[in-house]
Amino acid sequence: MSRVYNFSAGPSMLPLEVLETAQKELIEFGTSGMSVMEMSHRSPVYDAIIKETEANFRKLMNIPDNYKVLFLQGGASTQFAAVPLNLMKTGKADYVVSGQFSGKAFKEAKKYGDAKCIATSEDKTFSYIPEITPDMVREDADYVHVCYNNTIFGTKFPEVPNVGDKVLVADMSSCITSEPVDVTKFGVIYAGAQKNMAPAGLTVVIIREDLMGNAREDIPTMLDYKTMADNDSMYNTPPCYAIYIAGLVYKWALENGGLEKMKERNEKKANILYDFLDNSTLFKATADKKCRSMMNVCFVTGDADLDKKFCKEAAEAGFVNLKGHRSVGGMRASIYNAMPYEGVEALVEFMKEFEKNNK
Ligand SMILES: *Cc1c(COP(=O)(O)O)cnc(C)c1O
Repeated sequence: MSRVYNFSAGPSMLPLEVLETAQKELIEFGTSGMSVMEMSHRSPVYDAIIKETEANFRKLMNIPDNYKVLFLQGGASTQFAAVPLNLMKTGKADYVVSGQFSGKAFKEAKKYGDAKCIATSEDKTFSYIPEITPDMVREDADYVHVCYNNTIFGTKFPEVPNVGDKVLVADMSSCITSEPVDVTKFGVIYAGAQKNMAPAGLTVVIIREDLMGNAREDIPTMLDYKTMADNDSMYNTPPCYAIYIAGLVYKWALENGGLEKMKERNEKKANILYDFLDNSTLFKATADKKCRSMMNVCFVTGDADLDKKFCKEAAEAGFVNLKGHRSVGGMRASIYNAMPYEGVEALVEFMKEFEKNNK
């Protein structure tokens, strides 16, 4: 077997143990006589799978009973529309634009009402997180939307932004389950699962119950949180197989110490990489120190040709997908939960060598 260290931003690495379990269960799940891929989503066997997946996710994230968990499709990008369609009651919502995805979310919301950008870090190519204070939020805004971890620029909110008593909505696609979060501080949390939880095709939404049932009349049925909640995410066929894999990933995370432990591991991984970058004569981290992401570490040499050479040689050495997002260039090492410490350690060793050889 020759699995590489895969630093892809998403779809990304899954824990090897999870893949091995999936492999063992691929052709016949339990004594069901069939693969999870071949099952009716309404069968008792599948019902047990989705219920266990949800139970483990709730346990892992410590999700209170007054929040619903929805397993949806369409990616985080579909949530950019679903959020305003479900939550804009007065027609006003405030957005923090701290990167490309939050920019897209803002743009989408403007189609459905009076969306306002209350803070942005665009002036410095999104290399920092703007400070948010309750007085910045409009009194009659229905919610405040943030992207908690900016996958492309490698920044993360250092703490939950203070929006007073406003409903806080967060896109957590690239940091969900990377560390404990206090779910009660949020009205809605959503995430495309392909970064840190599952293969592509599944989108997870965590929503406080009282926020449902106020959607616009003309909302597409498939985007209405209430419809999805009332039908236990089975209004139509859910992404069955991705949900099953997510279930294995949640079980893996619980067996490996839960989110406290995930945080500890992730900090350790991010720290050796950032420490190296901060002391390097060749490489430089691009994100502001106060709001660096533990999941997506962005860096440059300052020379686009050298960046290219680095990515090429790294790939040859078994460190793949280190190229930065096509919109920003440079490099990005995505080091989600499934990336072992040894992978980051080996990358740092490789970077040291590269630095020596390219003085
Ligand atoms: C990847 C990503 C998205 C887009 O997700 P899709 O599932 O491809 O729609 C949105 N927001 C963030 C923060 C992401 O990392």
